[in-house]
Amino acid sequence: MIINVIGGGLAGSEVAYLLGRLGYSVKLFDIKPEKLTVGHKSKKFGELLCSNSLRGDSLTNAVGLLKAEMRILNSLIMDCAYKTKIPAGSALAVDRHKFEECITSALNSLKNVEIICKEIENPEDLGGIKVVATGPLSTDPITNWISKITGEGNLYFFDAIAPIVDGETIDYNRVFFASRYGKGGGDDYLNCPMNRDEYLKFYRELINAETVELKDFERDKKLFEGCLPIEEIARRGEDALRFGPLKPVGLRHPKTGEEFYAVVQLRKEDSEGRFYNLVGFQTHLTYPEQKRVFRLIPGLEGARFERYGRMHRNTYINSPKILDEFFRMKKDPRIFFAGQITGVEGYVESAASGLMVGFYIHTLLKYGKTIQFPEVTALRGLSKHISTPIKNFQPTNITFSLIPDLNVRIRNKKERRLKISERSLEALEEFVRDFQEVLG
Ligand SMILES: Cc1cc2nc3c(=O)[nH]c(=O)nc-3n(C[C@H](O)[C@H](O)[C@H](O)COP(=O)(O)OP(=O)(O)OC[C@H]3O[C@@H](n4cnc5c(N)ncnc54)[C@H](O)[C@@H]3O)c2cc1C
Repeated sequence: MIINVIGGGLAGSEVAYLLGRLGYSVKLFDIKPEKLTVGHKSKKFGELLCSNSLRGDSLTNAVGLLKAEMRILNSLIMDCAYKTKIPAGSALAVDRHKFEECITSALNSLKNVEIICKEIENPEDLGGIKVVATGPLSTDPITNWISKITGEGNLYFFDAIAPIVDGETIDYNRVFFASRYGKGGGDDYLNCPMNRDEYLKFYRELINAETVELKDFERDKKLFEGCLPIEEIARRGEDALRFGPLKPVGLRHPKTGEEFYAVVQLRKEDSEGRFYNLVGFQTHLTYPEQKRVFRLIPGLEGARFERYGRMHRNTYINSPKILDEFFRMKKDPRIFFAGQITGVEGYVESAASGLMVGFYIHTLLKYGKTIQFPEVTALRGLSKHISTPIKNFQPTNITFSLIPDLNVRIRNKKERRLKISERSLEALEEFVRDFQEVLG
């Protein structure tokens, strides 16, 4: 059985390398080196599109845990990252040229991975198993195919992510639970009320805050139509936010009956309320500016941001509708998707999804069934994210909100996170004992 991997980015390289290393016949297609997408610049595989940082490297950090899990599975991307690491404090940053070179030569060294420079327009023209890993900047012909095969309305061209804050860092003396006009569950939303002065200060800081510079191919206004950044709404006038995401109507304080000038609503990210999402706060503000300006919101003065808001050009599918928990098309199990296009977000998450897809295909071919990672792992958190039905599916980085909490209460956050990570790694170590061949 031939496995056709389309795209030699962070995800595709992981799939091809794992399966090639395990002895399967793999064809890896990429438009590189002859052509490049609108955003790629290098002719090598595993290119980092922007920053050379693979983010935090500690086990008190969800992406640090994900990396540790990937290392257990012998990830090519992690191996090359640590081999080409450069000093960057507590983050894992790499020399991007050496990093790409390491990935490209590892792929070239595998005799059963055939590397083919070709733009794939319709993966169904290829036989065998197909893995679509063409990334957030997939070329037009394959994007058209994806649009057709996933059905109307299931392919998106940008993401609009609101920040998430750690529930434990909210000042509960300043906020109240209520839903607008008492609809739904009474405690569906946590509301941060503002008086006029607080609102005006927030408004002024927001419209003057520093924003990230858009790439040339992101400047098309049509791209973000229908979903405006919060600062852009604010720029339409002093009261625009009060008629939009900060609308105060129907939100009285449950104890005092007080009404407010404006209200920011936070929605639970997980059933336990460990994390909250700032509703309608998709933004182009830089991360330091988000921290500074959004901490002006009453109740969030000491908030710790688990994830920052963002909006960028990004081709991705409505995975919970299209894919199962193994990143495989529900309507055609010979087609897998991997990488950013599935709604995971970030270099490490994209690579992790590739590693997972490689593993699933291996278990399918060797054991006759796809085998899932342990519930408590970050890997499983990503698989749940892309396959759990949700109204407005948005890509996400790995966060602790995607990993089950401990059964015991540990007050110190760092300690608790460390324990969660230790639990995940132990479970994964035990799990892989049955798959010695993957450890290589
Ligand atoms: C502009 C931009 C900047 C980003 N910056 C960061 C960042 O700083 N940090 C971070 O963590 N994440 C960042 N991301 C998000 C994400 O982590 C990266 O996009 C990541 O590279 C995704 O990995 P991937 O394997 O899914 O896709 P990619 O790494 O993009 O790989 C896709 C591959 O498919 C090939 N391809 C495309 N179409 C075809 C086709 N039709 N046929 C054959 N081959 C094809 C491409 O040439 C490419 O090699 C950024 C995304 C974008 C769009």
